[in-house]
Amino acid sequence: MRHKIIAANWKMNLTHREARPYLDALLAELGELNPIEVVLIPPFTAIPALAEALTKSESVKLGAQNMHWAQHGAFTGEVSAAMLQELGVSYVVLGHSERRALFAETDEVVNRKILSALDSGLCPIFCVGENLREREDNRVEAALEHQIRMGLDRVPPKSICEVVIAYEPVWAIGTGRTATPEQAQEAHAFIRSVIASVSEPSTAARVRIQYGGSVKPENAGELLRQEDIDGALVGGACLNPRVFAQIVHRAAAASVYTAPTK
Ligand code: PEP
Repeated sequence: MRHKIIAANWKMNLTHREARPYLDALLAELGELNPIEVVLIPPFTAIPALAEALTKSESVKLGAQNMHWAQHGAFTGEVSAAMLQELGVSYVVLGHSERRALFAETDEVVNRKILSALDSGLCPIFCVGENLREREDNRVEAALEHQIRMGLDRVPPKSICEVVIAYEPVWAIGTGRTATPEQAQEAHAFIRSVIASVSEPSTAARVRIQYGGSVKPENAGELLRQEDIDGALVGGACLNPRVFAQIVHRAAAASVYTAPTK
C-alpha cells in the first residue's frame, strides 16, 4: 500500500510570525490523520517556527522549496541539504516549474540537487510536467520521459523509492485549469512505467507520484481515487489551512482505493 502524501507548497507566502497560527489552525482542522502523510513546505524563514512545533509529529512533516547541490561554499543566497536536515526538514521540492522557468534551472541542475538531497537523507519531491505546447503537440510522454531520465540519472535504483515524483502539468499550475482525472492517471501510469524502466517494476510500484496543478477540495477526491495518484502537491489552495485540511480529508476518504503494492 502506498501511503498518500499531501504537500502544501506555500511558495513565497506567510512569514515567520504567520507560520505558527497557520499550523495551529491546520492541526485543529486535521484531527486524526492516519494514513495520510502531510508535508508543509514553507519559505526557509518559517521553517524553524514549524520545526519547533512539529518535533513530535509523526504525520505532519516539513519540507523545503529548494536547496543547492553543494554541502557548503561560496554560493551567496543558497542553503544546503545538511542545513535543512539539521532543522528537521524531511523533504525538498526540486525541479518545480517556477524554478525551471524563472530561475533557469536545467535538468542537469535538478539532477545534481536530487543526488545531493538523497546523499544527505532528504527525500526529493521531484517535479516534472509538460507545458501547454508539448500537450497540444502530443509530446507529453516524450517530455516526461526526458525529465525523469535526466533527473534520476545516476540515482542508485535502491534510492529511487525515496523520491516522490510530483506530476505537475505546467499549464495547470496556478491557472485554475486542472488535468482531468483521466489525463492525470494516464500521465501517472506512464511515469510509473518510466521509473520501472530505470529501476525495477517492484521499485516503481512503491514510488509515490503526486498530482499538482490547481488542486482544490472540489477536484481532489476524484483525482486521488485514481490508481496511480498517490497524493497531491498543493499551491494556492494550501494557504488557507481550512481549505488545505479539506483536501487532506478528501485524500483520507480516497485512500481506501489506493492500489496494493504489485
Ligand atoms: C504548485 O505550485 O506546485 C502548484 C501545484 O500550484 P497550484 O496548486 O496553485 O496550481
